[in-house]
Amino acid sequence: MPTSFAASPPVAPMIPRTLFGPDHEAFRSTVRRFFEEEIVPNHDRYEAQHYVDREAWKKAGELGLLCCTMPEQYGGSGVDRLYSTILFEEQARVGASGVGFGLHSDIVANYLLNFGTEDQKRRWLPIMATGEIITAIAMTEPGTGSDLQAITTTAVADGDDYVVSGAKTFITNGLLCDMVIVAVKTGEVSSGAQGTSLLLIEADRAGFTKGKPLDKVGMRAQDTCELFFDGVRVPRSNLLGGVEGQGFLMLMRELAWERMIIAVTCVAGAEAALATTVDYTKRRKAFGKPIASFQNTRFKLAELRSEVQIGRVYVDRCLELVLEKKLDVAAAAAAKYWCSDLLSRVVDECVQLHGGYGYMLEYPIARAYIDGRANRIYGGTNEIMKDIISRTL
Ligand SMILES: Cc1cc2nc3c(=O)[nH]c(=O)nc-3n(C[C@H](O)[C@H](O)[C@H](O)COP(=O)(O)OP(=O)(O)OC[C@H]3O[C@@H](n4cnc5c(N)ncnc54)[C@H](O)[C@@H]3O)c2cc1C
Repeated sequence: MPTSFAASPPVAPMIPRTLFGPDHEAFRSTVRRFFEEEIVPNHDRYEAQHYVDREAWKKAGELGLLCCTMPEQYGGSGVDRLYSTILFEEQARVGASGVGFGLHSDIVANYLLNFGTEDQKRRWLPIMATGEIITAIAMTEPGTGSDLQAITTTAVADGDDYVVSGAKTFITNGLLCDMVIVAVKTGEVSSGAQGTSLLLIEADRAGFTKGKPLDKVGMRAQDTCELFFDGVRVPRSNLLGGVEGQGFLMLMRELAWERMIIAVTCVAGAEAALATTVDYTKRRKAFGKPIASFQNTRFKLAELRSEVQIGRVYVDRCLELVLEKKLDVAAAAAAKYWCSDLLSRVVDECVQLHGGYGYMLEYPIARAYIDGRANRIYGGTNEIMKDIISRTL
């Protein structure tokens, strides 16, 4: 019985990929070894405790797997975003849904790099790259998610400090985070986008507390938490970029890339689901022959292979545009919604082809079924993606 997606041979692409060079592939070998040796053997334990060990973060840091796209002067390797892509693909390939490196390295770090003051970059990025600290970003609140302008967490200026009050929910890396970028209103609560700012808040500040990891349907190894701010004093020097009211513009800047991260993960996850199912259907027998020999199985797998390939080609082309800094938000929104829907469709069919075993959590396809669903919700729901696309027509 395969215990991880990684145990099944990959399905060769129908259209060869052209994105990666030899240096990328060497990096992929390191990443693959890391996930197979450090993460897969521990993932069940991570699921039980609802977080990934800090030691795993530190090992990733030692291998240069955290914040690798950051410039060398801030502790990174200054490499292109295909290196991040490889990290997301290899994580999806083994179904390691609990690991929150991507949010830390490819979302939080980019906010600091793009908008942080020199002091903020120097203070945070190098220790993020070593895994010495873990970071999160907190936008969603119990009362609002899609409508971010409606957040009610406030940061009221008081001398050299802000005093922060409010609550955030569904925060990835929330339990372990040592620093979190928090979307707050520095203006009136009713001031919408103009009053929104991003504040860097250290986890050890008085009045900042974390809830227990939330009891999620899937992604059970990921430490997703509520965060509470009860009159937390934060120095004004922690305001990202040092300017009030820029939070919304900052949140917009990397949206295309943040959505591509989900699309990349979903296509790689769909490839892995297909591979494990091809493997399973060749080995499982019914009525005296492998279930792979039934026409229904062959046609289903042919459809899935075709759809996954079509998704892969679109995503790879988007990644080329990412490298050229030409990917627009609507094309990335299309990638996010279509590929996360694709993952759900593919995994659902793969569960069916596994029969009863597809419903047993010891099988990787059952894990994929519960883990993959969230991709249609976070990073902006798929309905919001369609709204964005519709506005371009
Ligand atoms: C596992 C997980 C991890 C997450 N990690 C983070 C994190 O690290 N940081 C963070 O800040 N947040 C995080 N989130 C929160 C996530 O981004 C939000 O759940 C998401 O943006 C949706 O917000 P909501 O849950 O408030 O749903 P709502 O906004 O209440 O939406 C409910 C439904 O209404 C629909 N809807 C809303 N507005 C419209 C509209 N204008 N048109 C059509 N339909 C609409 C939505 O599509 C959805 O179907 C995470 C969520 C999950 C599940």
